[in-house]
Amino acid sequence: MNEWDCECGKVAHLSLGSNIGDRLDYLAQAVRGLDEHPGIRVTKISSVYETAAWGLEEQDDFLNVALEVRTSLAPLCVLDVCQRIESDLDRQREVRWGPRTIDIDILLFEGAEVDDERLSIPHPHMLEREFVLVPLVEIAPDLRVGKVVLSGVVAKFAGASTCVKTGDEIEL
Ligand code: AMP
Repeated sequence: MNEWDCECGKVAHLSLGSNIGDRLDYLAQAVRGLDEHPGIRVTKISSVYETAAWGLEEQDDFLNVALEVRTSLAPLCVLDVCQRIESDLDRQREVRWGPRTIDIDILLFEGAEVDDERLSIPHPHMLEREFVLVPLVEIAPDLRVGKVVLSGVVAKFAGASTCVKTGDEIEL
């Protein structure tokens, strides 16, 4: 095994969102950027979902996907990779200042609990956010956070759902 051997690594779940510019392309670039890191393999990609904007009226709708990855990296190193990709994709838009083009959150890291000033895992707001849970449950229907079954939480959003599949798929 070499130091980057993802097969022997941990399974983590990430949430990606974009609400400015070519949102699908930013998501695709971020997924590719993660998979191109020698210590990260993207193993599952959810469908692309669109979530109606709320809060600021002028804010565009979000596109969201969830990923399963295998990684030989420690959680903080995965965060470093995510933040470098965020920064690389933002930088392309520096001439026109605006909101971030991509947001990458680490949701779960194979049952690990992380309480660092830079990183909290499980992600502290994941159970409140339909746009996080719906894509996540699509690729991991049996996933739990502690004793909480995520598919059960998703079922509570049904009827008032603001999160719809766009029909787009991201492929590596
Ligand atoms: P935001 O981009 O607004 O979602 O927040 C990014 C900030 O949240 C960064 O300073 C991260 O260090 C911090 N953070 C804490 N926990 C997490 C997590 N599980 N995934 C991603 N960022 C996190």
